[in-house]
Amino acid sequence: MDPDTTDIDSIAPQLFREDAEALDIADPLAPLRDQFELPESGLVYLDGNSLGVCPKATAARVADVVQGEWGQGLIRSWNNAGWIDLPQRVGDKIARLVGAGPGELVAADSTSVNLFKVLAAALAIQKALAPARRVIVSETHNFPTDLYIAQALAREHGCELQLVDDAAALASALGADTAVLMLTHVNYRNGAMHDMAALTAAAHAAGALTVWDLAHSAGAVPVDLHGADADFAVGCGYKYLNGGPGAPAFVWVHPRHADGFEQPLAGWMGHAAPFEFTPGYRPAPGIARYLCGTPAVLAMAALECGVDTVLSAEPLGGMAALREKSLRLTRLFAMQVRATCMPLAPNLRIVSPDDDARRGSQVCLADPELAYPVVQALIARGVIGDFRAPDILRFGFTPLYTRFTDVWDAAEHLRQVLESGQWREPRFSQRQVVT
Ligand SMILES: *Cc1c(COP(=O)(O)O)cnc(C)c1O
Repeated sequence: MDPDTTDIDSIAPQLFREDAEALDIADPLAPLRDQFELPESGLVYLDGNSLGVCPKATAARVADVVQGEWGQGLIRSWNNAGWIDLPQRVGDKIARLVGAGPGELVAADSTSVNLFKVLAAALAIQKALAPARRVIVSETHNFPTDLYIAQALAREHGCELQLVDDAAALASALGADTAVLMLTHVNYRNGAMHDMAALTAAAHAAGALTVWDLAHSAGAVPVDLHGADADFAVGCGYKYLNGGPGAPAFVWVHPRHADGFEQPLAGWMGHAAPFEFTPGYRPAPGIARYLCGTPAVLAMAALECGVDTVLSAEPLGGMAALREKSLRLTRLFAMQVRATCMPLAPNLRIVSPDDDARRGSQVCLADPELAYPVVQALIARGVIGDFRAPDILRFGFTPLYTRFTDVWDAAEHLRQVLESGQWREPRFSQRQVVT
């Protein structure tokens, strides 16, 4: 089967395991899976959108940083092993995945902290240029940490956070009082993807700046920050970038803004000359001023290994090829759930967009009664997705390592859990701290 000409719609209305096996054999990206340390072969991991899997290279690289660069090199390694340049070096690699230029993006801190920096900078720009603009527009269903950061900054700056329920109403919510449009490109709960270029253009036409959170985009879908003419962006290192639990995040600022304003976390690593140890803050030129404190070297080494796994797809077509595979995975999973699972559960519905152009790399189902216990029953069977309150069953399809047979197996386990009523076992309703 030639993957470029295979019309997966010809598989409709139902996928058979032999079809899935044939798609895996024909998949030019299949060898990329070998880069990862994956547990026992029966496991179907559909949670790379929450915690990416561990690259095989990471353990040896981190051990080398610990034993060689730290153990032997000690403090000399800040220079000799390039530790001091890690935020920029890893940042330049991430930049290639999101349509940013070299020297424009750094890896640092967490997504929440980076969002604080860029949103504060965006508000400061507007305060200087257009002080009447005092409203941050976002979505009610944005990721909560983004909203919490925005609430805190709005309070501090005497601004207001306006939340829109329906994504279709976002453009019309922008007006003469809008300072910033702050959005997450791919929604964490339903996988809906915004048109970054169109919304950025609408924001600019209304005189507003844009802040994009790429947590569910970087490494998952093609992003073109320059093509969209975005102003600011942040993103996550431990999801599709496979950087490891709590990996450093990243921050990008369009060069037209980078030198103009300071961000409020004015730490010494963002100083123009940190090792002059002067008492006064002087921001570094460009994106370096978005650094704050000392980089987490061990975590940064692991993040670099993770980013390298995504970059390794470049000779095979890069993000465009990964996107093509991701769309096939999600389309087939939705089709299979419709054909084999939904007839067994009258309230189960698919909440991710059908339209390829509007869907990220995940398929989310919703059912208020079934969501939590069904996800637990699936995890017990080795099909790892996650539950998002109050009613979402979330399945991420990372094209780097997810197979077409994983799609079939996951849907088949879901079908069995529903058909057998296994989800009713009391153990599957016990709530854990982390869902
Ligand atoms: C995962 C995620 C975050 C995570 O932020 P942390 O600071 O790393 O905890 C932030 N925003 C969005 C949209 C996310 O999906």
